Amino acid sequence: MQEIHENLFLSPEKLKILQLERFNQALYRCRSAELYRRKHSGCPLQINTLEEIVQFPVTTKEELRQSAPLGTLAVSPEQVVEYHESFGTTGEPISVWLTAADFARWTQQIEYCAIDFSPGDTVLVRFPYAISDPAHIVQSAAKKRGACVVPVSSRTVVSPHTRVIKLLHKLKATVIGCLPLEAILLAETAKLMGYDPARDFPHLRGFCVAGEMLTDSRKALIEKLWNARVYNMYGTTENGNIAADCSAGRLHAAEDHFLLEVLHPVTNKPVPPGERGILAVTTLTLEACPLVRYVTGDIVTLTPSGSCSCGRTGQILQHLGRYSDRLEINGTTIIPGDLQEAVLQTPDDLIGSLWMIGVTGSGLVIRAESEHPGADTASARAFLSGKLKIPVKLELVPIGEMFDRNKLLEVSPVIKPKYVANWTAENHYPRTLGQLLSGYHTF
Ligand SMILES: [Zn+2]
Repeated sequence: MQEIHENLFLSPEKLKILQLERFNQALYRCRSAELYRRKHSGCPLQINTLEEIVQFPVTTKEELRQSAPLGTLAVSPEQVVEYHESFGTTGEPISVWLTAADFARWTQQIEYCAIDFSPGDTVLVRFPYAISDPAHIVQSAAKKRGACVVPVSSRTVVSPHTRVIKLLHKLKATVIGCLPLEAILLAETAKLMGYDPARDFPHLRGFCVAGEMLTDSRKALIEKLWNARVYNMYGTTENGNIAADCSAGRLHAAEDHFLLEVLHPVTNKPVPPGERGILAVTTLTLEACPLVRYVTGDIVTLTPSGSCSCGRTGQILQHLGRYSDRLEINGTTIIPGDLQEAVLQTPDDLIGSLWMIGVTGSGLVIRAESEHPGADTASARAFLSGKLKIPVKLELVPIGEMFDRNKLLEVSPVIKPKYVANWTAENHYPRTLGQLLSGYHTF
């Protein structure tokens, strides 16, 4: 294994000292940005303990949208070397500027992932190269470690799924970086091309995935499809990569770069340790666009690393989906992470790798492709209703009915997916995953 940064193994006491020092430096840098000059005008210039962070107001996505493109910039324009944007729910982009040192730090955060790029690796980077940043930093991390990068960008007509599979085979590629769903669609494409993804790519040693919530069951599903390890990464366009899988498959937070809080979704007050809440991030090292107590909108838990076999001391982050994607049905709240786990744990192997969910008012309809479309679903429905605590209807269809695999052979980009639709009117609900993938419905 390559050298890993010593900060991953700091004792809790030493980490607190580092975080406090870096927080006060970040606070100083923030004051050069118009947004924080205003927001922090009545706040202390520095703090003496990390607990004092609650004296600072949270930063919202809306504030970042309103501040774009220059209001969050804390350095002079001559110092920035890259610009990216993220799109929020309103469609208004958030601006992210990076200095050369910021880009190097973002690269290091990817290196924290135990995928451990090495000389001899051939890495297919299947994140979109346009506007967003993951493709660029994964590429940077792979090259820095001596790996060879093949930029097979997603969402472009230049590199359809079939071409990626041909390159995977021809180049004996060892790693693919992509969205979790993309790993599933690439496996489907490989099958259409006559390959067995679990057997015919023995040189493929792993995936590094990001950009979508990935529960343990979905990770296991992808690992089974490809007979290869899946390493998860969790980050946001505004912050960088906040947590990365260790060799034991646990998502450790990069606490030398980020001060993380878990807040109540309504009050923004910290929740008790280990409980679910919304992740708020303070960037400790970013120069160009530092953020203080930025409320990400993602539901997470943070738990101590305990005695993780990898030896890292960073807290374990569990990402359970976006708070705005939760379902409220007859007084029951269902969050995306619980929904995905329940679906994938459905007994008797009834649910295949592609499924989608509709909200019907009093309950849920789960429509899934299945190897056993005519099977009795009574015990599966009982399991799902029990897990989710609402009525669940299960609709099994033959493989291929929900998603036309021939689309994978076409030269057309696949957009970022959505899995949950509001099926308020029976005749309006999407019948195929293709309709969801193409953004046919709004959510
Ligand atoms: Zn670990």
